[in-house]
Amino acid sequence: MQTLRASKCGLSTAMLPASILDVIDALTKAGYEAYIVGGGVRDLMLGLNPKDFDAVTNATPAQVKEVFGRRCRIIGRRFELAHVYAGRELIEVATFRAPPKKAVTSAAGMILRDNNWGSIEQDFARRDFSINALYYQPRKGEVLDFCNAVDDIKHKTLRLLGDPALRFEEDPVRMLRALRFAAKLNFQIDDSILEIFTPEMTELLRDVSPHRLYDESQKLFTMGHLHRVLPMLIDFGIWKQLFAEIKPDITDFIGKAAKNTDQRIQIGKTINPAFFYAVLLWKPFLERCEFYSAKGTVPAEARAQAGLDVLKRQATRTIIPRFAETFIREVWEMQTRLLNPKPQQIESLSGHARFRAGFDFLLLRENSGDDSTQGMGAWWDAYQTMSADEKEKAIAQYNRKRSRSRRKAAQEEVPDSRTSEIEPLVQETESRGRRQRKPKTSAERPVRSDVRVNEDGSIGADHPIMKRKRVQRDLSQVVFGPTQ
Ligand code: ATP
Ligand code: MG
Repeated sequence: MQTLRASKCGLSTAMLPASILDVIDALTKAGYEAYIVGGGVRDLMLGLNPKDFDAVTNATPAQVKEVFGRRCRIIGRRFELAHVYAGRELIEVATFRAPPKKAVTSAAGMILRDNNWGSIEQDFARRDFSINALYYQPRKGEVLDFCNAVDDIKHKTLRLLGDPALRFEEDPVRMLRALRFAAKLNFQIDDSILEIFTPEMTELLRDVSPHRLYDESQKLFTMGHLHRVLPMLIDFGIWKQLFAEIKPDITDFIGKAAKNTDQRIQIGKTINPAFFYAVLLWKPFLERCEFYSAKGTVPAEARAQAGLDVLKRQATRTIIPRFAETFIREVWEMQTRLLNPKPQQIESLSGHARFRAGFDFLLLRENSGDDSTQGMGAWWDAYQTMSADEKEKAIAQYNRKRSRSRRKAAQEEVPDSRTSEIEPLVQETESRGRRQRKPKTSAERPVRSDVRVNEDGSIGADHPIMKRKRVQRDLSQVVFGPTQ
């Protein structure tokens, strides 16, 4: 073990937010050891802006709770941690851990329970990559390096601690982490990892809970180097494990969406990580729509059913939380609305909560050569910058064009609805759905037996498909890995 001067590693307290210093100081004052560890130290040494800072201590979670009182919450069962609120920030405080006992690993060697407190040396050996295992004590101005991690940072090398095969078997998510760090930091993966990073090894990801894989996929999508990591996911056979139903092919659309996501992160714009799932699953969704259309299902119902099917299948690999599921289906449904909007709905559509995401999606499709958008991406793009007068003219012009093509179309008999109220894009189950105005009189209430598919082809709230229960996922077989 080497003790290095923090200043020699390019670290100083001036680089740290008050929140992490506050946590370190309070623990030290109470007589415990406390360090900053993990990505925060690594990123600072590389001149990057750390996403967050994690602390590690010899105090048990219960002792951390004693120090911070109501500012502290103990979370996790298999992997107990203290969450400490410092100002508006949340700092994760972990306790030094010893190696897990044999009895709590799965048949494949995966760690299932991990609350064995230990020494700093033991804690170090449990960490994944050398570059994530530097311990920084900011008040002492010291960095503890147990494995020449500083050299690995200098040489931009990603090296696993211990026996690489064993470390991947213990926790297959480390394979995803390896690709994430290699892409994010532009590091090379050490040969000792490459040698064992085989398709058989990636099969182990099948045992990881879909919850954890969803979390990891979100980290991949939001690290700012999604475009770089995508081909790596394919090359290393990880794509197959994460997105079983999606062809491993970085289409123009997927590539552009990835670049766009990275750019947004670079300039500090927010992103909804579910957006990239909407992109990835778009093709399978369209194929599934066709499947239902071929069976004679009306378009709106085909879309609703296809959306549910595609998301349900993806959820067997990575859970899709309810909010993400709704978001994705709304973005897809927006595509239909934006492509063929009713003229009297155009203005309210442009103020819809899902307009921005739907429009971005449409424009990405258009810019990646999808001509089925019929130029509507550019139309909406221009529309948003117009004055009220110009908008009126643009709508009138659009209306004339639309009427002409509608006259030509065979299915002209479908009359245009007079209403300018936009129906919800995706109907949620009643308890969670957006609140809708309840019909006040019996005359306003739909007649159950015959109001199923609206005149414009959309489906009403009384349609059986809208009454479908949330997909029940059988999690009894799922083995949960440690959450870190
Ligand atoms: P970032 O926060 O930038 O994604 P990080 O390295 O801080 O990267 P975290 O997931 O925040 O990653 O984890 C904090 C630290 O905990 C890591 O640096 C590593 O030392 C340890 N760690 C996290 N996940 C694992 C794992 N699966 N196996 C072993 N150690 C891990
Ligand atoms: Mg971190």
